[in-house]
Amino acid sequence: MDLFEYQARDMFAAHGVPVLGGRVATTPEEAQAAAEALGGGTVVVKAQVKTGGRGKAGGVKLAHSPAEAADRARDILGMDIKGHTVHRVLIAEAATIAEEYYFSILLDRTNRTYLAMASREGGVEIEQLAVERPEALARIPVDALTGIDEAKAREIVDAAGFADDVRDGVVDVVQKLWTVFTAEDATLVEVNPLVKSEEGRIIALDGKVTIDENAEFRHPGHADLVDVEATDPLERKAKETGLNYVKLDGEVGIIGNGAGLVMSTLDVVAYAGEQHGGVKPANFLDIGGGASAQVMANGLDVILGDPQVKSVFVNVFGGITACDEVAKGIVSALGILGDEASKPLVVRLDGNNVEEGRRILAEAAHPLVTVVDTMDGAAAKAAELAATGKA
Ligand code: GDP
Ligand code: MN
Repeated sequence: MDLFEYQARDMFAAHGVPVLGGRVATTPEEAQAAAEALGGGTVVVKAQVKTGGRGKAGGVKLAHSPAEAADRARDILGMDIKGHTVHRVLIAEAATIAEEYYFSILLDRTNRTYLAMASREGGVEIEQLAVERPEALARIPVDALTGIDEAKAREIVDAAGFADDVRDGVVDVVQKLWTVFTAEDATLVEVNPLVKSEEGRIIALDGKVTIDENAEFRHPGHADLVDVEATDPLERKAKETGLNYVKLDGEVGIIGNGAGLVMSTLDVVAYAGEQHGGVKPANFLDIGGGASAQVMANGLDVILGDPQVKSVFVNVFGGITACDEVAKGIVSALGILGDEASKPLVVRLDGNNVEEGRRILAEAAHPLVTVVDTMDGAAAKAAELAATGKA
């Protein structure tokens, strides 16, 4: 999950990384009040959207008085930056910038390590710098076990060639940013620009943090960082019942067990859909091994709540949970849902105890359910039903 800049700055502050004071505003009046509360001096009004390049897009503006902060907030609120509408702005004390640097720590999956990147030439042109003069951006692998201690921080600062007057300050901040990275279970911590102020202080002026949702169990506080309004309502509902669901943009609802099987189901449905007016999978949903009737019902409930869905393909390979259990699950899920179940279901079962599973479905003879023995055949049937439902 990516954080907003103001959330990243709060996180920085909590771990001792120097940031300037700031407040979030959603209206020009709030922006004015925030600027007053920050002392009435110069502030910077910053669009809060989860994308970079806000400065270049006109989403970061200085304001020299609270009244001007209100004006700039009026300009920026409602702006569209790369497809993101600005709903709030950060009003932050303005820094007087002497130099702009770049620093980040990320998970380097290719090399199976962490990577620190640092440059004395940060700011809004960093992407261009990375392409045109890669040597100006130092890249230092960071061992997961030893992390960024003082020696490592000095190595990074030397590699990037920081001037003597800022070395100690940057060494200190870099170690604190490593603390943010590990203590918050982040996969990215980026500061661009990290600045030297005219007084010689090192300050994080912008912050981008991505936190690893797999670690949410040990960060109860991270739940508060979720941008609930921006979350797809079906994904939110799925999450509440603990389902592994991703909304896609098609017409065939998909339920399967095991991520690999579900991924291949998406492929065969997309392929079969080409013969049926280009219908596509509507979602990814893995109900896992050992799925109960209730889990099946929860999954069907989420999928049937998607108005785009015209048919559902249930593709289960019986393993530890045998096919007869799955079949019973489908039958009782349809019972639990009652009239809520309104779209045709194509079921393909295979694996452990498949004959008994198919017998149970045949015996239930639910009017919405079609059983097809092969995965390709079932995908074709589901696509055909979706195309008919769409027409
Ligand atoms: P981004 O464009 O989305 O990365 O937004 P940033 O927060 O990095 O801001 C873009 C640029 O605005 C920075 O590189 C700075 O040059 C400038 N800027 C941001 N905050 C301040 C500030 O407090 N004072 C001054 N003078 N400039 C700022
Ligand atoms: Mn930036």
